[in-house]
Amino acid sequence: MIIYKKASDIKHHIENQRKKGCSIGFIPTMGALHDGHLSLIKTSKEVNTITICSIFVNPAQFNNKEDFDKYPITIHNDIDLLELNGCDLLFLPDKEEIYPSDFIKKEYSLGKIENMLEGKFRPGHFQGVCLVMEILLSVVQCDILYLGQKDYQQCLVIKKLITSIPVKTSIQVMPTIREKNGLAMSSRNKRLKEHDFNTASIIYQTLLYIKEHAYNTPFDHVIQESTKMILNKGLVIDYLEITDEDLNNISNWHQTSKPIALIAASIDNVRLIDNLILSDK
Ligand code: AMP
Repeated sequence: MIIYKKASDIKHHIENQRKKGCSIGFIPTMGALHDGHLSLIKTSKEVNTITICSIFVNPAQFNNKEDFDKYPITIHNDIDLLELNGCDLLFLPDKEEIYPSDFIKKEYSLGKIENMLEGKFRPGHFQGVCLVMEILLSVVQCDILYLGQKDYQQCLVIKKLITSIPVKTSIQVMPTIREKNGLAMSSRNKRLKEHDFNTASIIYQTLLYIKEHAYNTPFDHVIQESTKMILNKGLVIDYLEITDEDLNNISNWHQTSKPIALIAASIDNVRLIDNLILSDK
């Protein structure tokens, strides 16, 4: 695997590969890699000539300094994992490379999606996501961008972003990879104490409960019961909602063909998110 720290170097490499007709799959990450990230790399490798991963803990998308400061960094292990899993190129920029001192911050028109759910609890988060994604996509110019369904709202935001910037990529959203206990894999799981790691599986159990009960029951009742399940385990809930696939609120299953339940909850100040498309088999 070749590691590039400079955008100009990786751009140059990619331009040369493009001339040979290579296709490019791209997996942007913030590192502390796990099997969720690796599943995206595996899929990209099956389809593209070149698979590129980036690791950059993007300060612009953190509204909470403590969350940023505590974000796990395991770069040596990440590089080993990427090598082992056949990633071809790693883009590993530092902050100056992405946001030079003369960088002019752009504002994106994202509509109401920006301030709901994650956006409500993490003001400015999606603006920060768009900032870094526009830069990364302009550097990598990939054919397919691989994203995880775990960050469902982020996928919608990035789908919107790519319609407004000069890139030609398509987006493939990949299923959430889970721990044995059902907890969605996340870099933040590394911050959980063993007991909390076990307790946090209530998030997925609750999503399954919602999936089982929501078809025949008004959502407000299902939400009441599922909220209790999570609170009883001592987690703090930011949101627990059932929406349609565009994140519009709905009150029963029959208002959409693709209802989705989304949860954000913290345990011992570690904030976890997860979701389930209720109509999936
Ligand atoms: P992150 O490093 O958390 O920014 O994630 C980088 C990419 O990996 C994003 O597209 C995530 O949605 C995706 N991802 C994170 N966790 C998982 C998971 N458990 N399963 C599948 N994809 C994931």
